[in-house]
Amino acid sequence: MECVFCKIVNGEIPCKKIYEDDNVLVFLDINPYSLGHTLIIPKKHVLDFETIDEELLMNILKVAKNISKLVCDKLGADGYKLIQNNGLAQEVKHFHLHIIPVYNDEKKMSIDEVYKKITE
Ligand code: 5GP
Ligand code: ZN
Repeated sequence: MECVFCKIVNGEIPCKKIYEDDNVLVFLDINPYSLGHTLIIPKKHVLDFETIDEELLMNILKVAKNISKLVCDKLGADGYKLIQNNGLAQEVKHFHLHIIPVYNDEKKMSIDEVYKKITE
């Protein structure tokens, strides 16, 4: 299996995990756009917004509501963007929802420090 996010789900590739349940996994983006950039994925391989089933999408959105608040509260973000790319815009061909915090005054912090702040 070549899918990088399936490999993360299977534990073949490590990730900085923030949350998981039976259907959903949440972890920090390896190449963050801003501090606390987070990805929410279904554990089963689904391509995109068109092919994901509605129940799973609703699970992901519920998790997104909780995790966006958690991440932003822990890091003191002033807002956040939810982004979900498809087709040419989508680099990793396994559905994922980005949570991208936005800051009035963004601090410099390593991904390890960000992870510690979110999970402590
Ligand atoms: P896309 O353009 O497909 O919406 O974004 C894919 C995202 O996945 C990018 O922000 C990229 O940094 C992230 N990503 C790609 N490979 C890995 C990985 O192995 N681990 C983690 N944590 N994120 C990854
Ligand atoms: Zn996959």
